Amino acid sequence: MSDAQVSPLFPAGSGDIRLISTDGTIFYVHRLILRLASPFFETMFEIGSEGTPQSNHLPLRVEADAKTLTCLLHYLYPTPCRPRITDLGQLTATLRTAKRYEMEGVIEQLRSVLTERYLEEDELIVPLYIRYPLPVLLIADAFGFISEKRLALRECLEGDLTEHLKTVISSDIPARIMIGLLELRKERLEWFRSKLNAWSPPLVEPCCSQKFLEHRQKIETKVYHCLEFQPFVDELTKGLRCDNQKVTTSSFIKGHLIAVPFDAIVQRWEREWVVLRKSIPKVPPIMA
Ligand SMILES: [Zn+2]
Repeated sequence: MSDAQVSPLFPAGSGDIRLISTDGTIFYVHRLILRLASPFFETMFEIGSEGTPQSNHLPLRVEADAKTLTCLLHYLYPTPCRPRITDLGQLTATLRTAKRYEMEGVIEQLRSVLTERYLEEDELIVPLYIRYPLPVLLIADAFGFISEKRLALRECLEGDLTEHLKTVISSDIPARIMIGLLELRKERLEWFRSKLNAWSPPLVEPCCSQKFLEHRQKIETKVYHCLEFQPFVDELTKGLRCDNQKVTTSSFIKGHLIAVPFDAIVQRWEREWVVLRKSIPKVPPIMA
């Protein structure tokens, strides 16, 4: 015990009980704080409290490293300024420890870290669930945070899925999560398909329909990956020409011009899209 480090934030003299982290740092904390925050510690102290003062005992081992335990204690103590958690790995480790020791109050506070936006210098920092939707979805799933799960899920329905996957630190994503996610992304893709189905340009020559089909295929592939409205519209409304060489009508225009959807149609789709992307999806049964 002689080589044990003492946490500078919870030094000797600041509490009536010693905790030790898995990596050997000692924390002096208040038994009362632990008791109030955790039925686990309450029970433990009730059973072992009578008689000798704790200082004669070995420090109480907590299943967390010093960094995680420091973070946990920051949330446990009613201190005015606690360091902001920006690292999802740290957040997960702290949540896990809080759960292990039945610290519901700490869990609730840590939970809010996922959705809070804050000002840093002059910049408004976007919530974690928007910055890292898939990792947040996995955390919310693991700890049963339903509303955070739905919010993160909404963000996972946009953007390239492989890019989302890259943000996940641990490689194991539960199959039911992936299946649910793919289901919802497929629904989203169907929406785009329905717009494509609704639009068919008036085609003058048979050669143009082949050209248009190829173009449509290209749009579908693009949308399949990004599931975003703007690239979809950009692709659909950019002038398309069928460059069949057997053009006879106006010899000075090479190929046939294929019509694009009217602005009014695109605007109607966009209004629909805004409603769709704003709506917060229900968690599919398989993902629950
Ligand atoms: Zn043509």
